Amino acid sequence: MSDDTPRGPMIPIVLTIAGFDPSGGAGLQADLKTFHQFGVYGMSVVTVLTVQNTERVSSVDPLDPGYVRQQLDSLMEDLPPRAAKTGALGTAGIIETVAEWARGAPCPLVVDPVMVSTHGVPLMDENARRTLRRELLPSAYLVTPNLYEAAVLSGMKVDDLASMEQAARKIAETGCQAVWLTGGHLTGQAADILYFEGEIHTLTSRRIDTKHTHGTGCTSSAALTAELAKGTSLVEAVGRAKRFISRAIETAPGLGHGHGPVNHHVPLDELDEPR
Ligand code: PLP
Repeated sequence: MSDDTPRGPMIPIVLTIAGFDPSGGAGLQADLKTFHQFGVYGMSVVTVLTVQNTERVSSVDPLDPGYVRQQLDSLMEDLPPRAAKTGALGTAGIIETVAEWARGAPCPLVVDPVMVSTHGVPLMDENARRTLRRELLPSAYLVTPNLYEAAVLSGMKVDDLASMEQAARKIAETGCQAVWLTGGHLTGQAADILYFEGEIHTLTSRRIDTKHTHGTGCTSSAALTAELAKGTSLVEAVGRAKRFISRAIETAPGLGHGHGPVNHHVPLDELDEPR
């Protein structure tokens, strides 16, 4: 039987594999909101359930790795993505499952190596950190650590531009193709390092002093993943994601009594390079 259902223009499909944040500021929720804002079709595979608001995380419950595998298999059968990203993965078992999928994934994979929540609650144990480095990073196109995650993944102190550059090169030795190391917690300017094809690029922006940064890493890596799905080159995609997250922090809606979410509604026309 022929299918006469009218079809719209092909929209790039994008996948996030991450944790559930009921407060809507981080995890799957931040990723899906960002995908939508960038005009791509977002899908989500859940790995970890959390109970949290802007003030505290009350529980973190990783799901069974088999359930994560079932979600991935179901989506790959019908809706192959053009780009994918990972967020909180919780346990070594889930990371092994995602890594096995990633080795044959049909698209570039962005790995945001989420280790602790905005409030400092662990979202991954010691064993999981080692498994992430050994099993998942070799299949990543891009890894997006912050200073803390870069220190864990490189095994060195990372607290200035020179050590960021060294750490990015060390992380790239795992086999991933690029590293976007965000330096938002450095004092002074918010400088990031992008390591790609043997070259280091430095990206700077004005540092914004605010407590409303919940979901910053998720949102910037989701923006970048959406841009990759649309065919934007890596260097340009990182630039656009960086401008998006800077504006999103600057215009955060100030919700809740603790660390509120960033603004996922930043208009895309504000991301064009200043002339
Ligand atoms: N994923 C989940 C489910 C979270 O709860 C958090 C932070 O609390 C994160 C990821 C990481 O958030 P961020 O983007 O602020 O690093």
